[in-house]
Amino acid sequence: MLILTQPTSDGDHLQPTSGIRTLPWKSAWTTILLPVSCSVVGAGMGQQHGNRKGLTHREVPRGVGLLLSLALMNAALYLCLDWFFISPRPPEDPSRCPHGYFRMGRMKNCSRWLSCEELRTEVRQLRRVGEGAVKRVFLSEWNEHKVALSRLTRLEMKDDFLHGLQMLKSLQSPHVVTLVGYCEEDGTILTEYHPLGSLSNLEETLNLSKYQDVNTWQHRLQLAVEYVAIINYLHQSPLGVRVMCDSNDLPKTLSQYLLTSNFSIVANDLDALPLVDHASGVRVKCGHRELHGDFVAPEQLWPYGGDTPFRDDLMPSYDEKIDIWKIPDVSSFLLGHVEGSDMVRFHLFDIHKACKSQIPAERPTAQDVLDTYQKVLHSLRESVMSQTKEML
Ligand code: ADP
Ligand code: MG
Ligand code: MG
Repeated sequence: MLILTQPTSDGDHLQPTSGIRTLPWKSAWTTILLPVSCSVVGAGMGQQHGNRKGLTHREVPRGVGLLLSLALMNAALYLCLDWFFISPRPPEDPSRCPHGYFRMGRMKNCSRWLSCEELRTEVRQLRRVGEGAVKRVFLSEWNEHKVALSRLTRLEMKDDFLHGLQMLKSLQSPHVVTLVGYCEEDGTILTEYHPLGSLSNLEETLNLSKYQDVNTWQHRLQLAVEYVAIINYLHQSPLGVRVMCDSNDLPKTLSQYLLTSNFSIVANDLDALPLVDHASGVRVKCGHRELHGDFVAPEQLWPYGGDTPFRDDLMPSYDEKIDIWKIPDVSSFLLGHVEGSDMVRFHLFDIHKACKSQIPAERPTAQDVLDTYQKVLHSLRESVMSQTKEML
């Protein structure tokens, strides 16, 4: 029976909302029960030993019977606990909260998204940390947690604000910033605060002496992998193929993502995520104005030359491949200029060349790019490891 009481590494993480996979107290119970049953048996046997030299024929089966029934009881209890708490297993990742709930920092349990009333009374606004076309963002405090309170800046932007909120609510995942609460009436959204801010600050952050150990090609390539994983998530999202439209230049694109304290990337600003539906021919246009420059994909440029003035209604629509076009530029920024960056760029040369195909349909999918990035990351890591081993 003692074999059954194997402790599990995640045993002390009770997941109250998404089902319990392991019981922190199950093993404890079994271990408590066993010594009790053993000591009962042991004590009984000891007493008998003390009083007489041996056991009678009738006492042996009685002792064995007691031991057997206790063992059976333990086994039954164990199986019942398994039945109650282990199966059926939840289909989703047990560390995530269900829809409408959140968890951040050291919170053990999932909490319901904060309501208008809670946002008004329980959140203390501290200082402004950012601003874009739609929202003004304030570092704030809720329940001893640092949170980001985004306030709608102008009423004209309410549609974008509500679209962004809808996307945040529906796309909660490890790729997206954690939503803590919202109030449509007041034009406020509360999210987890990330002190390192947006990806635009990456270079300044990595240049700080305390982050020197993460300013390596390995970490920077890992960031590029995460960025592509986010694009891939948006292209295969539960809400269909979503295009990251708020990305007409590099600084703008970087400002829509946050760098977390453990050097990971999450998408934050989802105010412009229109839907592409290839089956029914639904395509997108990112805004109503003429776009310029080579950061945007060629199909986003006005195709009729300088002599014909731009007209939104004549501008052709496009699909999610505009995000693929931008990957090499964002990645190149993420890779920066540290020892090994150029070696990584060399290994990504072919896939980046394919991303820059003039014909959108010829560009790889985000999944293709992600697969290639991961392969490059693993093979480079392995070759560095084997080189290090050889040197030892
Ligand atoms: P907008 O929709 O107006 O562009 P964003 O949601 O992009 O607003 O936020 C603007 C800026 O505020 C971001 O680029 C970032 O610098 C900062 N910011 C937003 N949310 C957070 C957060 N959760 N933690 C830290 N900084 C944030
Ligand atoms: Mg923004
Ligand atoms: Mg926005």
